[in-house]
Amino acid sequence: MKHLLATDGLDPALATAVLDTAEELKHTLLGREVRKLPTLRGRTVITLFYENSTRTRVSFEIAGKWMSADVINVSASSSSVNKGESLRDTALTLAAAGADCVIIRHPASGAAQRLSGWLAEAGTAVVNAGDGTHEHPTQALLDAATLRERLGSFEGRRIGIVGDVLHSRVARSNIHLLSALGAEVVLVAPPTLLPAGVESLPVTVSHELDAELPALDAVMMLRVQAERMHGGFFPSAREYSIAYGLNERRMKLLPEHAVVLHPGPMLRGMEIASAVADSPASAITEQVRNGVHVRMAVLYHLLASEGAAA
Ligand code: ASP
Repeated sequence: MKHLLATDGLDPALATAVLDTAEELKHTLLGREVRKLPTLRGRTVITLFYENSTRTRVSFEIAGKWMSADVINVSASSSSVNKGESLRDTALTLAAAGADCVIIRHPASGAAQRLSGWLAEAGTAVVNAGDGTHEHPTQALLDAATLRERLGSFEGRRIGIVGDVLHSRVARSNIHLLSALGAEVVLVAPPTLLPAGVESLPVTVSHELDAELPALDAVMMLRVQAERMHGGFFPSAREYSIAYGLNERRMKLLPEHAVVLHPGPMLRGMEIASAVADSPASAITEQVRNGVHVRMAVLYHLLASEGAAA
């Protein structure tokens, strides 16, 4: 693997190999007092974040450190970006300083792809850690790892993705990955929160959450991304929550084995009730835990495996 920019077009065999590596790493590290492998000793990984993040940035940093890479975090607010430096110049600077891999989060869709072009000559790997409303491939991989752990397989499984699909890079990455792995994806959202061209995606669409829940093996709740909204997409937070929030009554409509996912950050009481988020059906903490192993696996496939670019 040279870069990880999107799950759209990602070979399902490669995705499965990453999931297998993540699972192996998880078992290798389980119960160890010192969680450190020598695999990436001498390699330099830089996280370059132009948007806020808790889980993604921290878990990439931990993943790199647990594999003995040197990890450096650059945030737009404290770098020369604040002095007006362009993304291209910032990226070339990081490559010249010795980055083997740049992990980028950026508000513009397509930013990771552009970066991979600029860094091709330097041979620096690029990981998309979320670009605008486009993709967030490592989130989809960690969601897939969590679902595979809980459900065993993807074939014939029906996964609901609920809420603000329009602004969600998590939804987009999951739609491509989960369907490529053999699951059926159903989007449940008000018409105003579905993307244009939804008909061309490998999904079915519904506006009725109650009607879908009894047939779902997993339900992924999405945050309403107010920071990307300019205008009214629904009448009020209360009405949104009544129609699309996963509350205790609704959770009872799910089959007993069904898994509840959320990429975080959660708006408790809006898209998900606390009683649901903290219930045994919820795999939200497991998602975060698996995120570290999946990101270790991605770094391994980019920088250390036989198929790696460098
Ligand atoms: N953390 C995810 C993302 O960065 C989901 C969200 O922000 O709602 O896309």
